[in-house]
Amino acid sequence: MKIAFFSAKPYDKQSFETANRAFNHDLTFFESRLTPKTAALAAGFPAVCVFINDELSEDTLREIVANETQLIALRCAGFNNVDLDIATALNLKVVRVPAYSPHAVAEHAVGLIMMLNRKLYKAYNRVREGNFALQGLLGFDLHGKNIGVVGTGKIGECFARIMNGFGCNLLAYDVRENPALVELGTQYVELPTLLAQSDVISLHCPLLPDTYHMIDEESIRQMKPGTMLINTSRGGLIDTKAAISALKSGQLGHLGIDVYEDEGSLFFQDLSDTVIQDDVFQLLQSFPNVVITAHQGFFTQEALTNIANTTLANIRDIETGNACENEVSL
Ligand code: NAD
Repeated sequence: MKIAFFSAKPYDKQSFETANRAFNHDLTFFESRLTPKTAALAAGFPAVCVFINDELSEDTLREIVANETQLIALRCAGFNNVDLDIATALNLKVVRVPAYSPHAVAEHAVGLIMMLNRKLYKAYNRVREGNFALQGLLGFDLHGKNIGVVGTGKIGECFARIMNGFGCNLLAYDVRENPALVELGTQYVELPTLLAQSDVISLHCPLLPDTYHMIDEESIRQMKPGTMLINTSRGGLIDTKAAISALKSGQLGHLGIDVYEDEGSLFFQDLSDTVIQDDVFQLLQSFPNVVITAHQGFFTQEALTNIANTTLANIRDIETGNACENEVSL
């Protein structure tokens, strides 16, 4: 099938061209994001392949359908950027990659915890500058601490298993329990209990209307003073302004995020020569106890290979009229 890739980076091109040797689709790569303004680029392509920050809004969907696109292949798990009601009404098929490496994201969440707790970002720079003082680098043992896991699907489970290896006590909240985690000794509790008892809280649930800003002023107020909050899931789970107030008051002790609610105009590009206009993001960056990475949780060799193989297989299934287990429906 002729596929137009949007938001394509050199590493996407490499992994998809390698995987495509087994599929023989016709691949065209565009660097631009798919938005209503760039949707005309999809003309003549029955499939578009998109990523996290492409905008599959009503305007974009109507434009690509008018230009005969029939399939949206998400090369990611989340599909919160697709207006599914409109896609369904327009008869557009939507496929995704539900799992490519839950280990990659879980390991990155643990990396953020270690980085914040032991202040590795400061330590690295200090030693390079010949400053071998330890003042200001004091951390805490993770062993014996309460770790709250919000969302215990594939990534949450991997994360919980790693933290179990550190000797932590696991608390979890999810709309449904994961039996594997119960077997591991995880205690499922209601969200307020998790918030009140955890030393570290890590978010692993999807962004949905009922999870939007699930961490807001009220939920942060319920946390222990000095709690560490980690988000590798979706930026919209946290009300950033509420997090900033809590960092100022000390109610939040550390914040580690791989996702940011307004990341669409920032992440996945080199803006180092420009003045960042997002004041909220700039303020967030200024705190010494905040670490931000630019949505790289998924970014491992294994994950890229799995993403390319699954996406191209999804497209083949739809093209050949076979059932596709990764089709997204309302
Ligand atoms: P999953 O579907 O396996 O697990 C999600 C879990 O969240 C499920 O157990 C589900 O029951 C639970 N859940 C749903 N609604 C909830 C609610 N209201 N409260 C609490 N829990 C709820 O998904 P996954 O593969 O583990 O991925 C989790 C999230 O990680 C994705 O939705 C995506 O946003 C994010 N993600 C981030 C990256 C990255 O690079 N940073 C990469 C992949 C996925």
